[in-house]
Amino acid sequence: MRRELSEASLLKDAAYVDGEWVEGEEGDSFAVEDPSTGEVLAMVPKLSRAQTAQAVESAHRALPGWRALTGKERAGVLRRWFDLVTRHADDLARLIVLEEGKPLAEALGEVRYAASFLEWFAEEAKRVRGDVMAAPEPSRRIVVTKEPVGVVAAITPWNFPAAMITRKAGPALAAGCTMVLKPAEQTPLTALALAELAGRAGVPAGVFNVVVGDPLEIGPELTGNPLVRKVTFTGSTEVGRLLLAQSAATVKNTSMELGGNAPFLVFDDADVDAAVEGLIATKYRNTGQACISANRVYVQDGVHDAFAARLASRVEQLVVGDGFDEGVQQGPLIDAEALAKVEKHVADATAKGATVLVGGDRHVRGGNFYRPTVLAGVTAEMAVTKEETFGPVTPLVRFADEHEAVRMANDTEFGLAAYLYARDAERIWRVSAALEAGMVGINTGLISNEVAPFGGVKQSGLGREGSIYGIEEFLEPKYLAWENA
Ligand code: ADP
Repeated sequence: MRRELSEASLLKDAAYVDGEWVEGEEGDSFAVEDPSTGEVLAMVPKLSRAQTAQAVESAHRALPGWRALTGKERAGVLRRWFDLVTRHADDLARLIVLEEGKPLAEALGEVRYAASFLEWFAEEAKRVRGDVMAAPEPSRRIVVTKEPVGVVAAITPWNFPAAMITRKAGPALAAGCTMVLKPAEQTPLTALALAELAGRAGVPAGVFNVVVGDPLEIGPELTGNPLVRKVTFTGSTEVGRLLLAQSAATVKNTSMELGGNAPFLVFDDADVDAAVEGLIATKYRNTGQACISANRVYVQDGVHDAFAARLASRVEQLVVGDGFDEGVQQGPLIDAEALAKVEKHVADATAKGATVLVGGDRHVRGGNFYRPTVLAGVTAEMAVTKEETFGPVTPLVRFADEHEAVRMANDTEFGLAAYLYARDAERIWRVSAALEAGMVGINTGLISNEVAPFGGVKQSGLGREGSIYGIEEFLEPKYLAWENA
């Protein structure tokens, strides 16, 4: 059967602590469901707070040995992990489709993207470097070395169940840190399969641990335990704020990849067809469930109607269905709550005067499926432009001039990604500079790769992942003030 893994041993239903597969203390467990069918895929243990503390202690015990290895030795281990993830890409992609719902081709793309962080940071492990500075006194040398931050707690979301993990574990392990990871409760199976492959790759016991269960039980231990020196989180701004507040008590180093509300600007001089394709790529990938997904689309008067018509006809053609079915481009939303939010946003917009060009209601398949939707006549008063919809809905807002577009684009507490389509080089430069965002896609809707720095400004987060900057988040400079003896 196409849903079965070619290697059944990659389907794990236990936590991974100190190199061992462990059950919950009281036999408590939770169900992992297929968002496409509602079928229960596995029962996974709920770890207690005490068990979470044990995982932290195992990461703490493993730290001296792991950080003492050379960068080249750690690079070798990460490279083997990369090779195994690549070799088992089909099975990992199947797990992603099963628990997250995205189409198989997208899931395979995610696995390749996830693997790229292991490869990239394996390479970067060898390139950690410090500085020697000219001192103000002749008898003195100033030497700066880089040391691993220490034990890292990582908390990751369900929408990219593999990539959000390797984008943190790759640089952390490369830097010489050890990690306790808590994946999202909707998608623990991909995380556990990655742990299995880490073990096979030779990641030593305790260096990479996966704890699963109730975030309210596990979270406070990860943010409160003084042995944890860093918290790295990807998820909602609301939870990010909470984790920052909790981490403050023991002054932990933090990296936060939080929510977005990405504007997508199409100017009169844009290539309209390319802009439509770019929007489809960013908006409808993973059924709109990505933090860098375009959330608000601003189109200039001169091209508005042509853009809207072309977009509507392209969106109408998107094939909705089970992620395993041939040709499917849109899977289900992750759960009933996500569906309810999309419905609420569309109802709010239409009640306030927006018109539905395509979609606008649930898909006939039922369950968590929603029809890919385009709304026109959207205004700043509607929830679709204020909050992250996290679903397959494009709200079109018409604008007259550049100044107005930039003002509306920046009118949000978020600042993760922004996109613009234009041909005039001066305009591209001016608008890119004016947009309050950590990342700007210019004539492209696809911006993520391991070489580029991913992250946001304003309430979209702190720090950057991937790229040459990503490893710095897991390193502390140490200053040696060296006086001649
Ligand atoms: P989403 O809305 O995408 O589910 P969340 O921010 O709720 O985003 O979840 C992202 C991750 O944060 C998940 O792993 C989830 O379990 C975890 N999480 C949610 N609430 C808390 C909490 N109070 N403490 C620690 N982790 C949490």
